[in-house]
Amino acid sequence: MAYDFDLFVIGAGSGGVRAARFAAGFGAKVAVAESRYLGGTCVNVGCVPKKLLVYGAHVADELEQAAGYGWSLEEGHFDWGTLIANKNREIERLNGIYRNLLVNSGVTLLQGHARITGDHEVEVDGQRYSTERILIATGGWPQVPDIPGKELAITSNEAFYLKALPRRVLVVGGGYIAVEFAGIFQGLGADTTLVYRGELFLRGFDGSVRMHLKEELEKRGLNLQFNADIQRIDKQDDGSLKATLNDGRELVADCIFYATGRRPMLDNLGLENTGVELDPRGFIRVDDQYQTTAPSVLAIGDVIGRVQLTPVALAEGMAVARRLFKPEQYRPVDYQNIPTAVFSQPPIGTVGLTEEQALAAGHKVQIFESRFRAMKLTLTDIQEKTLMKLVVDADTDKVLGCHMVGPDAGEIIQGLGVALKAGATKQQFDETIGVHPTAAEEFVTMRTVTR
Ligand code: FAD
Ligand code: NDP
Repeated sequence: MAYDFDLFVIGAGSGGVRAARFAAGFGAKVAVAESRYLGGTCVNVGCVPKKLLVYGAHVADELEQAAGYGWSLEEGHFDWGTLIANKNREIERLNGIYRNLLVNSGVTLLQGHARITGDHEVEVDGQRYSTERILIATGGWPQVPDIPGKELAITSNEAFYLKALPRRVLVVGGGYIAVEFAGIFQGLGADTTLVYRGELFLRGFDGSVRMHLKEELEKRGLNLQFNADIQRIDKQDDGSLKATLNDGRELVADCIFYATGRRPMLDNLGLENTGVELDPRGFIRVDDQYQTTAPSVLAIGDVIGRVQLTPVALAEGMAVARRLFKPEQYRPVDYQNIPTAVFSQPPIGTVGLTEEQALAAGHKVQIFESRFRAMKLTLTDIQEKTLMKLVVDADTDKVLGCHMVGPDAGEIIQGLGVALKAGATKQQFDETIGVHPTAAEEFVTMRTVTR
């Protein structure tokens, strides 16, 4: 049977655009439907605008350091409206680039909500299209716990479009988004409190990293409230918001920002018209080749709930396009040693196993850990410390994990990701000549086992 398309992609985000473009490049007839914004979460309400706001907040650090370098500046003034307007202009530019990328690669772009109406059929705004295969790349959506007053809270989606910088902010959660936005709000001048339900935030990250970041954030004056959970939110007469905690304490703020994880975006997708099954967490169940339980339907990216990062969605999109339309170039996605950064202030960079994971996996480990004041700060009064840590297998000398908290951690960890992928040993780290004077050279000069 002749279909309208070989591949119908639902969602023009990181994974969907990559799969659509490459599939079309390999000669397939491809359509992509997008209901909101080209480029998806990352471009519109994720990585890109987030990083621009992080840069904005970081300017405060540079201004603080300036005096030590002989610069006397008049007292700075920050204007939220200017930052948001400039950010919006850049996002619009990127939306245009994504449009051109798709159209120029021969993809049929359909703007509107897509709903699956059969194993080989998708409907967009009343129009039905037949297709040999469907690729679901619909991403995720913030989820807020069901507490009284939850409608008074905002999520990252709204934070990017706030009309003004709130004077007092409560950030709820202890994952990537909570930690990053706490740094943004605080860096830009809001009185910021982070409320997290557990003992220590960033569960799953290396223990030294979590503790080090906690200490550095406290030095910066961020109010960290651990073992605390909000039970209800009430609006007060003066317009402020009152959060009542599980221990009865009350915190007052002008904005309550929830970053308590993301659910798969399956709203009105029509999954009931296919044999697509969900996993116990509610994400789309797929096999190693992103095949769902319905033979004609595949799924990639945040909606499968594996690793919710843009470069991973890109890799999955590429893998699907190659497997279907250029099988000789197919290579499975390697989920080992994925480098990642948390753009907190200071940022975290990490790749490979944490100390806790290495021990749990049965490795006999040697830990190399270094804490130092970055050279740039020596002419200032700022006492911030950088942390670098290597987790090494004592039997094989293989470096299992690299972890850092400090300026440019995300930039530095990318190269170490290559080293770990290549299976580098501690001896090879030691034999690598450092770049001097940098912070990064510490990763190749740590000689003494800490424990
Ligand atoms: P998405 O990019 O979410 O794209 C899905 C698209 O599908 C959306 O455009 C949506 O509108 C569309 N869609 C949904 N349903 C339908 C439908 N029925 N019909 C038509 N279209 C539909 N990752 C990093 O690697 N680095 C970071 O620094 C980073 N920062 C982040 C910051 C924030 C605040 C957030 C929320 C996320 C961040 N991420 C980051 C994660 C990253 O954005 C996601 O992992 C990535 O966007 C996932 O890509 P995707 O293709 O799976 O989905
Ligand atoms: P995460 O899953 O990273 O963190 C969610 C946090 O919310 C955890 O601390 C969790 O606590 C807490 N939480 C969950 N449910 C509740 C609840 N009911 N009440 C109170 N707290 C709760 O999600 P995020 O929303 O921060 O980010 C989503 C994903 O997006 C990230 O996992 C990451 O993959 C991606 N991302 C990547 C970025 C980057 O690369 N720099 C930046 C931003 C996002 P607990 O740990 O106790 O379960």
